[in-house]
Amino acid sequence: MTVKKNDKVHSLRKSGRDSDTNLLGNAYIRAVNRARIIDLFRSGQLMSRADLARHCDLSKPTVSAIVDDLINEGVLQEAGKRSSEGGRRARLLELNPGSSTFAGIHFGESVTQVAVTDAFGRILAKRFAETVTGRPEQSMVLARELVVEALAAIHAEPERVNAVGVSVPGLVSRQGGTCKIAPNLGWHNYPVAKELARLLGVEVYVANTTQTAALAEYQMGVARDVQDFVWLYVGNGVGSCAVQGGRIQFGSRGFAGEIGHVHVDSSDILCGCGKRGCLETTCSNLAIVRAFKQAMEAGGQPTSLSGKEKITAQDVSQAASNGDALAEKVMKDAGRALGVGAAMAINMYDPQMVVIGGPVAGADEIFLSGVRERVGELALESAGTDIVFSHLGRDIYLQGAVSMAMEQSNAAYRIVKSARSMDIDDSDDADSATHSASL
Ligand SMILES: [Zn+2]
Repeated sequence: MTVKKNDKVHSLRKSGRDSDTNLLGNAYIRAVNRARIIDLFRSGQLMSRADLARHCDLSKPTVSAIVDDLINEGVLQEAGKRSSEGGRRARLLELNPGSSTFAGIHFGESVTQVAVTDAFGRILAKRFAETVTGRPEQSMVLARELVVEALAAIHAEPERVNAVGVSVPGLVSRQGGTCKIAPNLGWHNYPVAKELARLLGVEVYVANTTQTAALAEYQMGVARDVQDFVWLYVGNGVGSCAVQGGRIQFGSRGFAGEIGHVHVDSSDILCGCGKRGCLETTCSNLAIVRAFKQAMEAGGQPTSLSGKEKITAQDVSQAASNGDALAEKVMKDAGRALGVGAAMAINMYDPQMVVIGGPVAGADEIFLSGVRERVGELALESAGTDIVFSHLGRDIYLQGAVSMAMEQSNAAYRIVKSARSMDIDDSDDADSATHSASL
């Protein structure tokens, strides 16, 4: 979307009327500078106008003009003076936390979560409900209700929401934010961004859960500021997202990272995708439970879970932590099976780190040792790659969705918006609210 919009700006610059072309050029530069200044304040820094001029390499009058606008709009506020020995004390500015709100929505396999934040992206309120499956239009209405409830909890009007980020466990097209398929939600070709934008009246950006999770991991998790890493999801499914040079790798359509559905010869099990022998049939939560039950039925080894009616992957992991030998073996084998995928990712991307997240992230270390062991056997060169669990917990998708909304709302489309407000003949009838993320 960014590329398309930028192209639009370029074409307008080339073909527009002279006066408009100049105006657009100025608006473009001003919007970029404005975005850079807002970005600096979002990190929580207190800065003076002189600090900003230095940081952004801009003239003081340029900075002052933008800062004055931002103060008038309530985006920035005075934050006292810097103490100094001699000379004038610089007046400091900060982001007004109440100036805007962002919302994140995560359509989880079992729970739909919503969070609303302050202008810094700090989560202020959360709401959740059981996920509705098979009826996406109902899921959208539910998400809207949760957003409205969460906003009420922080006494914020819906109009104050700047942008919404959405995380979906499925294939999400970058063009238009349509979910092509989300097997666990029962969604097919559903225009998530368009429908939510219609219901909420703000810009909505949609990405796959591994993509939002990788973004959160890059900003605040174990991979903070790590430029090259691979985020591996292990839950009922298995997926991945590669970050290279600090940028999420979406692929040409947004569908990159479906490592759970590469074929492995060790399996002939029918996968949820309809094919046989996918990687995820060997190491997902479902695979762990299946393997454990088979091992139990085969007998030969006692287990602390015998007699338990419904066994989950968490139960197996917990039993492994408690020294249950059968559970330990199953977890180790599942780790080794995931190691096949991790080794592929390492051979493909040469990452500094592989971060394993999703429900399995709280699993026993024996799972991780299985992954490392198999990677050591299979990857050509794995010595430089750390393999670790994510520590961000269940909020990771919400946090990533919020970060995506914040980045996008401060990105290039603002520039086009500025150009539009100057009455330039812009025939682009696409609603900016209906585009998916391009981090
Ligand atoms: Zn599959």
